[in-house]
Amino acid sequence: MSEQCRAIVADAPGGPNVLRIAELPIPVAGPGELLIHVAAIGVNFIETYQRDGTYKVPFPFTPGAEAAGTVEAVGVGVSGFAVGDRVATAEGHGCYAEYAIVPAAVALHVPSAVPLDIAAALPLQGMTAHYLLNSAYHVEPGQTVLLHAGAGGVGLLLTQMLKEREARVITTVSTDEKEELSRVAGADEVLRYDGFADAVREITDGDGVDVVYDGVGKATFDGSLASLRTRGTLVLFGGASGQVPPLDLQRLNAGGSLFVTRPKLGDYLLNPQERTWRATEVFQAAATGHLTARIGATFPLADAGAAHTALQSRATTGKVILLP
Ligand code: NDP
Repeated sequence: MSEQCRAIVADAPGGPNVLRIAELPIPVAGPGELLIHVAAIGVNFIETYQRDGTYKVPFPFTPGAEAAGTVEAVGVGVSGFAVGDRVATAEGHGCYAEYAIVPAAVALHVPSAVPLDIAAALPLQGMTAHYLLNSAYHVEPGQTVLLHAGAGGVGLLLTQMLKEREARVITTVSTDEKEELSRVAGADEVLRYDGFADAVREITDGDGVDVVYDGVGKATFDGSLASLRTRGTLVLFGGASGQVPPLDLQRLNAGGSLFVTRPKLGDYLLNPQERTWRATEVFQAAATGHLTARIGATFPLADAGAAHTALQSRATTGKVILLP
């Protein structure tokens, strides 16, 4: 092992061009930690919010919560992991690198049937889809769901899980190519954003949907509220188009005793049991062919800025991966 490894560093908040490739010392696994030789890195929207200062992080900053690879070294006090094990995480730090430190408590064993690039594509968006469907709102068979950005990373995974649950799935997408991908994933109805709330009313015979999963945020929020049935739930889980401004709670009353929740993955991985439940179900579904992670774009690690640009400009489908 050389002493140095390549990693992405941002010295200050800014656009995608603040992400530069650097040589950094290979980190050392401390107590309770694993040193991972990274095989593939999952790119997620949160890293764009961290990079541009929307979410506060300390600089200089190496982004990256999600990666898969093999264990290179094991810190003292770690049990259940050995050098050479195939692992992944959705809760790492500084994973845009050839080597990353991952606390053993948040490391996930990767089944042998799941390749490491897929293992880097699944944990964050897969466990997100899992908690959205099972916990933020528990979808029952036969319920009708509206899901925005149906051809995105979370969108394609959540659509497949919702169809396994026997829900009726309506998605929104921006292009014909994305519409096709969303249909292949199982969507029953695929809409464009323009006028989607009216189209949802029409499709549901005026009733509205039981739940909306909205990761687009600012541009869709009003239409999402308008798409709900009486006592329906809006799960606002992201802001790809921008963050939603403050909400007058009287709108929930006027809309029909509506519910709104604004969840995040960390609050649905509260203990080892919850993490193991979600990770095991996601990886097993992938290993047995019940869940397909689509890698829509792959960039070399040095081109992390281009990966962010692609994600933020709506140019991607499914998962974006960096290869060290
Ligand atoms: P996606 O792959 O879904 O990419 C975002 C998609 O949003 C785009 O492809 C685009 O699809 C759609 N979109 C609509 N409007 C815009 C816009 N103005 N700018 C950019 N994209 C737009 O990303 P992810 O699956 O990684 O994440 C989806 C959302 O989920 C994000 O908001 C993310 O922050 C959030 N998230 C939240 C988590 C949580 O626990 N709360 C965990 C993981 C992700 P189209 O072209 O079809 O409109």
